[in-house]
Amino acid sequence: MPIDPKLPYDPANIFARILRGELPCARVYEDDHALAFNDIRPQAPVHVLVIPKGEYVSWDDFTAKASDAEIAGFMRAVGAVTRQLELDGPGYRLMVNMGGAGHQEVPHLHVHIFGGRQFFQMIAD
Ligand code: AMP
Repeated sequence: MPIDPKLPYDPANIFARILRGELPCARVYEDDHALAFNDIRPQAPVHVLVIPKGEYVSWDDFTAKASDAEIAGFMRAVGAVTRQLELDGPGYRLMVNMGGAGHQEVPHLHVHIFGGRQFFQMIAD
C-alpha cells in the first residue's frame, strides 16, 4: 500500500528501525548524512537504497524542510555510492517514489539506485 505523504514522520517505519540498528541491512555505504543498503527485493542486478539520516517522510518533506547542509550531504552521498559501486562509467538509473501516485511504500525518503544492466523504457506500467 502506498503511504500518505502528508502524515507526520513515523519513527516506527522500517527504515528508521534500520537506521537505529534495530533491524539488519546489507550496508553498502554510510556517512554523516546517509546510509545506503541493498534493496531486499532487487529489481536490477544492482539495486541500492540511499536514505538520509534525518527524519523525512518523502522527497517533498526533505526538499521543503531539510537544511542546505543535509540536502548537499545527501546528494553527495548518492553520488559517492554510485561511484563506489563503479556505476559512473556504465551508467545507472535513479528513482524516487513520492506519495500515493508515486507508489511510495516506506515513509522515510529513499533514492533507488538501479544498475548492472541496460535500461530502455522510462516507465513500464
Ligand atoms: P518504495 O516503493 O519506493 O517505497 O520502495 C520501498 C523499497 O524498500 C522496495 O523496493 C522494497 O523492496 C524495499 N524494502 C522494504 N523493506 C526493506 C528492508 N528491510 N531492507 C531493504 N529494502 C527493503
